[in-house]
Amino acid sequence: MNAEVAVFAGLRGPARTFTYGVPEGLALAPGHLVRVALGPRVAAGVVVAVDVPSPGRELRPVEALAQPEPVLRAYQLELARWIARRYRCSLADAVRAMVPPGLARRARTPVRTRARPRRIPAELALAEDDAVRDADATAAQRAALEEIQRGLDADGGAFLLHGVTGSGKTEVYLRAAAYVLAQGRGVIALVPEIALTTQVVARFVARFGERVALLHSALSEGERLDEWRRVRAGAADVVVGSRSALFAPLARPGLVVVDEEQEPSYKQESDPRYHAVDAAIELGRICGAAVVLGSATPRVTTYAAAREGALRLLPLPERVSELPLPPTTIVDLRLELRANNRSTLSSALRAALTKAVAKSEQAILYLNRRGYATVVLCRDCGFVVPCPACEIPYAVHADGRMVCHRCGRTETAPPPRCPSCGGARIRQLGVGTQRVEDEVRGAVPAARILRLDRDAVRRKGAHAAAFELMRSGRAQVIVGTQMVAKGFDLPGVTLVGVVSADTILNLPDHTSAERTFQLLTQVLGRSGRGSAGGRGILQTYLPDHYAIRAAAAHDYAAFAEAELAARKRFGHPPFGRLVLLQTAAKQQATVERRAEALARALRDAAASDADVLGPAPAFAAKKAGTYRAQVVLRGARPDAVLDRVPVGAEWSIDVDPMTLLG
Ligand code: ADP
Ligand code: ZN
Repeated sequence: MNAEVAVFAGLRGPARTFTYGVPEGLALAPGHLVRVALGPRVAAGVVVAVDVPSPGRELRPVEALAQPEPVLRAYQLELARWIARRYRCSLADAVRAMVPPGLARRARTPVRTRARPRRIPAELALAEDDAVRDADATAAQRAALEEIQRGLDADGGAFLLHGVTGSGKTEVYLRAAAYVLAQGRGVIALVPEIALTTQVVARFVARFGERVALLHSALSEGERLDEWRRVRAGAADVVVGSRSALFAPLARPGLVVVDEEQEPSYKQESDPRYHAVDAAIELGRICGAAVVLGSATPRVTTYAAAREGALRLLPLPERVSELPLPPTTIVDLRLELRANNRSTLSSALRAALTKAVAKSEQAILYLNRRGYATVVLCRDCGFVVPCPACEIPYAVHADGRMVCHRCGRTETAPPPRCPSCGGARIRQLGVGTQRVEDEVRGAVPAARILRLDRDAVRRKGAHAAAFELMRSGRAQVIVGTQMVAKGFDLPGVTLVGVVSADTILNLPDHTSAERTFQLLTQVLGRSGRGSAGGRGILQTYLPDHYAIRAAAAHDYAAFAEAELAARKRFGHPPFGRLVLLQTAAKQQATVERRAEALARALRDAAASDADVLGPAPAFAAKKAGTYRAQVVLRGARPDAVLDRVPVGAEWSIDVDPMTLLG
């Protein structure tokens, strides 16, 4: 008898499947963790099939069984096969993503472990009084719950719970979870980033207590393994965690929740490059579980799927508290410049800030540094210089060239005058949090001002500390990037000012408008959560852009219509699928030759299955001393093209990428 084993060569290196012999008396089943020899080394592996045909040569035997019980259940192996097929990675890579790293390590070199008594991080264990547990559901919540319960009584189904922040989505998750647990099945709730979503996590802990297992990357290997074991043993049947918590070994998954389904962190950016939403829907199909995607601003691909009936749409149109969304003013920065205001704060924002501070209210000022100085923008008319073929902004490189990162077209320098209005004030765009902080200090010298961006948040607990300073009223103004858009549920905030709405909008990517709309909606939603009400001010050079207008008007449907129309023109998802192929090499000539050759082969084979875009330099064209290039397939059947053209191991393949700017 033989067994096919997914072998993990190192903890990171490539994983592959090999056939081994099974010694007499060793009862192996799929999912078993084993120790095998790989060349001169000892490695961990997972049995993916037994009774496989002999390759006709002498086989090395499986050395030992590392755990008496299989570490992967049958439904998980089925999901791994789907991941391997869909994302064109090896089955071994997909299997490895499901095995806790600590377990694989111990299979190689067995160590005795003692279970630790268990520690829930303080901020998650917050003894929040769970007062709404017994409150009557609102009419919209009841309608949503009834639909989900109908699914749970039948064969599951996938749902999009679409509602603004505060509309009661979390409460729907919690009640659906209670229903599933009463059926004797388990729950998985995915959140984008534990550190930024502590309130959702704390509410699961408050409601389900010891039954909750937390699985996320901030845990140590040992802690993660302990939590995994509690799930495997059935001691915990509510799993809350980030992306990979989807692979928790529940005996019978009944419900998978994906909160903030639009968040890019649900896509894994290394093999296996799965998207947790699509994988969750597949898991639901395999297990007959219900899958609930929640968002105020779902991706338009998800929204389109719901409109077509592939997902069931469950709208929660109003906030539970009936607090209105903050009225938002759009400030045209071109007019500020004409009025000779060169500050990053428009006169309207400066006035609103001064007023809020004088009334002892609080303010959040938001900007985005990503995309810093990458586009050429006319300060008079807002025109951004695009590639004529692709209509996406040119990216400016350090040497001054403008490069189209979709088709590769290059121009040696930005134009001296704006091609649209002829103005001479055409230049690169970009502002940092530091500069905004300084100008805010100048505008409201009496206020205590905090800054929160990626750099600041690297310090452990910085996000929680900033939140606490604002919550207690010791700080009045916070300036920051995406960090301030998440989890900052502060009733004292009456003003949200978006210093620069355009930085992401100007990135040359098919999801730029969508990310802009999502982030603006999220940050504007931080204003007016208390009885004092609130407002928003949105500064932009592109006041007529549909993403800006729809965000200011809190109008998701209007955004989705315009965005889907734009996607349709270019055949972008959901009207076509994307596959991003990237490669890197020390010599620029090598990458270019390689990329040319692959693009040619793909074009020859593509027929009408997909368009081939590029080759083009990758957005990060040079990284860690290597040059990077990319080719993109876009069309109805990119898979079919890849089935006909062999792609070497020097290429990474990203199926359904979140962005083409990798
Ligand atoms: P979301 O997840 O959409 O942001 P939540 O579930 O957090 O919304 O609900 C917003 C607020 O309303 C929370 O404070 C929650 O406790 C409260 N809430 C939710 N549902 C109800 C209900 N049926 N009755 C009373 N309060 C509720
Ligand atoms: Zn182009």
